[in-house]
Amino acid sequence: MTKTVNHWIGGKTVEGTSGAYGPVTDPATGEVTTQVALASVEEVDAAVAAAKAAYATWGISSLAQRTAVLFRYRALLDARRDDIAALITAEHGKVHSDALGEVARGLEIVELACGITTQLKGELSTQVSNRVDVSSIRQSLGVVAGITPFNFPAMVPMWMFPLAIACGNTFVLKPSEKDPSAANLLAELAAEAGLPDGVLNVVHGDKVAVDALLNHPDVAAVSFVGSTPIARYIHATASANGKRVQALGGAKNHMLVLPDADLDAAADAAVSAAYGSAGERCMAISAVVAVGAIGDELVDRIRERAEKIKIGPGNDPTSEMGPLITAAHRDKVASYVTGAAAQGAEVVLDGTGHTVEGFENGHWIGLSLLDKVSTDSDAYKDEIFGPVLCVLRVDTYEEGVALMNASPFGNGTAIFTRDGGAARRFQLEIQAGMVGVNVPIPVPVGYHSFGGWKDSLFGDHHIYGNDGVHFYTRGKVTTTRWPDPADAPAGVDLGFPR
Ligand code: NAD
Repeated sequence: MTKTVNHWIGGKTVEGTSGAYGPVTDPATGEVTTQVALASVEEVDAAVAAAKAAYATWGISSLAQRTAVLFRYRALLDARRDDIAALITAEHGKVHSDALGEVARGLEIVELACGITTQLKGELSTQVSNRVDVSSIRQSLGVVAGITPFNFPAMVPMWMFPLAIACGNTFVLKPSEKDPSAANLLAELAAEAGLPDGVLNVVHGDKVAVDALLNHPDVAAVSFVGSTPIARYIHATASANGKRVQALGGAKNHMLVLPDADLDAAADAAVSAAYGSAGERCMAISAVVAVGAIGDELVDRIRERAEKIKIGPGNDPTSEMGPLITAAHRDKVASYVTGAAAQGAEVVLDGTGHTVEGFENGHWIGLSLLDKVSTDSDAYKDEIFGPVLCVLRVDTYEEGVALMNASPFGNGTAIFTRDGGAARRFQLEIQAGMVGVNVPIPVPVGYHSFGGWKDSLFGDHHIYGNDGVHFYTRGKVTTTRWPDPADAPAGVDLGFPR
């Protein structure tokens, strides 16, 4: 083990004092390369205290000061894309090109934050009554916290803190303990860009650190992205403690393929969206619903493409799909494939037992394709979070939409068709937060907001975009009267103002 990842508090590296460390593994080799400090309650308190102290000046800093930092930050991130992506690949395992895509999508939110001047403009109504004006402004909350998952160690933190700090808040980030290094580099670059000490802090840790944030009286709001059971817990606990919460959870994203669809385009999209990042994406397509008689043809075309995908270490430019995050997760994913036939599925491709020469201890699994999957089976009901694609068959559009709407999840979804009327109807009838029409992974651009429905999001606000600005600010309305010195006094009136 060569490296220790420590906390970043008050603008500098702070060594862990709890004595607890977690292992960080290179998923391609299976070797523990790094240890990450796991914060105690006292260490979380220190990070919140640093953020609170910084808020006293950052909260009243000018918009020009904030955006000057953000523009410099944007340039530094742009210059260091490759370094951030390399850190992601070393700890998460995804291929370098995919890691670069993650950095680009995170940068989008930094760019959005550079334009915060426009987003924070207030409203003014003049002369609502005689000599009375009304103005509405939005103000920051104070110290806000972000708790993030392993699968996007740079992008998901960047969904949160750039907008939060642009709005005038200070931030405490608790990244995933499985791939913690990218978060520290993001914080160091922010300091290099001129962000004052304490505005962005990173505490590493596990449930102890998360619970300390959820219970801390000085944390005003919590953004969470992760699995559904933890999202539900975060929402309930932080809400009970009087905090504002947005908690984004897991998913089972369906792709409906109508009989008139371009089957090659649909097969390309299904393979890219199901197996990209080894299926460890909350917007991965994990269920294809084939309508009518196209099922056999569609499954054949998906299989042909999936068989050609090259699996290997993420830092090998010829690899298209990397390993899974841990050996335990790989074994769990494999169990869904080995149990599928007994639950009625046809196993078209079985990726279990796959190894990569020279990297025999990596967390490998190949691509699996399950056909004629039943809605009662575990492979359909659970979020597998691996390279396993289920195909379900239905006779009609209506049957497909009913099947999809019965899912407890409602994150992303897609329809593939050439029929504009059907696509429009789908957009209105489907119960999901993000809809793609001939687009398999409809992650909204930065200036729209990202979020699911049902068990995929707890709380009222989606993340980033306008919802992000609303989440990280609260409204204030001021009613002003400047009487003319020449006016007669209004006199006492106990009636409610009309
Ligand atoms: P996870 O829920 O296990 O962990 C997320 C965060 O919560 C981590 O920082 C972790 O340390 C913390 N945590 C874990 N267990 C906890 C507990 N018992 N109490 C308090 N905190 C705890 O999720 P993960 O495995 O890191 O990420 C994968 C999951 O995230 C998938 O379900 C995926 O769909 C979801 N995800 C959702 C979105 C979205 O936008 N909806 C985006 C990315 C990932």
